[in-house]
Amino acid sequence: MARGLTAGAEARAGAGGKATALAAGARARPIAKRRRRKPADPARSWAKRLARTRPDLVADVLEGLAATYGRPTWQRRLGPTSELILTILTQNSADTNAERAFESLRRAFPSTERPESHEAGHGWGGAGLSEGPPPDWLAVEQAPLAELVEAIRPGGLAQQKAPRIQAALRLIRAERGDHSLEFLGKMPALEARDWLTRIDGVGRKTASVLLLFSFGTPLMPVDRHVERVGWRVGLIPPRANADDAHELYLALLEPDQMYEAHVNLITHGRQICHARKPECGRCPIASRCRYVDRKAP
Ligand code: SF4
Repeated sequence: MARGLTAGAEARAGAGGKATALAAGARARPIAKRRRRKPADPARSWAKRLARTRPDLVADVLEGLAATYGRPTWQRRLGPTSELILTILTQNSADTNAERAFESLRRAFPSTERPESHEAGHGWGGAGLSEGPPPDWLAVEQAPLAELVEAIRPGGLAQQKAPRIQAALRLIRAERGDHSLEFLGKMPALEARDWLTRIDGVGRKTASVLLLFSFGTPLMPVDRHVERVGWRVGLIPPRANADDAHELYLALLEPDQMYEAHVNLITHGRQICHARKPECGRCPIASRCRYVDRKAP
C-alpha cells in the first residue's frame, strides 16, 4: 500500500490511474448489462400451467358446482368487526358452537348499536344468528379476562380465543380510535388483507372471510373444505400449504368468481366431497377429478 494512503484512498487512486490509461487510448469494453430476471410468481406460474395442461378446468368445476348448488349472490352478513370476532370464534370450532359463543357475547356485553343479522346458508355451517345489536366492543376489550372466557366458553377453546379477541380489539382501537373496520372496504384487496393479518391470530383465511363477506372484496378464503376439494380435483398442487393455497386460488380465479367459488367449494366439501368417504358416484365434477382418475383431463 502506498505510504500515507488508506486502503480506500489507494483504491480510489488506483481507479483514477486506470481511467487515465483508458482515456489515453485503451478502448473501454462496454459492460454488458445484466438483465435481472423478475422472480417468477409461483401462483401465476401454476395457473398458467394448469390452463395449458388442463384447459377449462376452473370453468368446468365452477359450472358443475353451480349446476348442483346454484349461483350464490353476495350479501353482507354482519358488520366487519362482528365478522372478525365471529370468524375468530370459528377457528378450530364448529360454526354452530361459534354461533352460541357469539350470542352469549351479545348477552354478556349488550350494546345499543343498530341490530345486525346473519342468515345461515352460503357456506355457513350453522343455523345463523338471531337479529340483534353487536356486542359492546369496548366492554369486551376491557372486560376482565375471566369474564370474557366465561362468555365465549360455549364456542370452545375459550382460554385461547378470549385474549386473542381482546388483543385484536385493542389493536384496532389503538390504530383507528374506535373499533370500526368499515375503512377496510375502501382499501385495495391485498392491502386490506395485509392490514388485518398484522393482528395476532388473524391469518389470510380469517382476513379473507371478513373482507369477502363484509365488503365483497375479491379474496378467496381457503378453509379445509376448499383446500381438500382443490387438492383432489387438482386445482392446487397436493403439497400446497394453506397460505400458498390462498395465493394459488387468487391466481386461478377472476375477481367476480371468488365469492361463488368459495361458497360452492365449501358446500361441495360439506355435502359430497367429505374428508372421509367422498361420494364420488354422485359428484358433478367427477369427470375432471384427479382423485378418481389420476389422468383426468
Ligand atoms: S369426484 Fe370425489 S373426490 Fe373428486 S371432487 Fe368429486 S367427490 Fe370429491
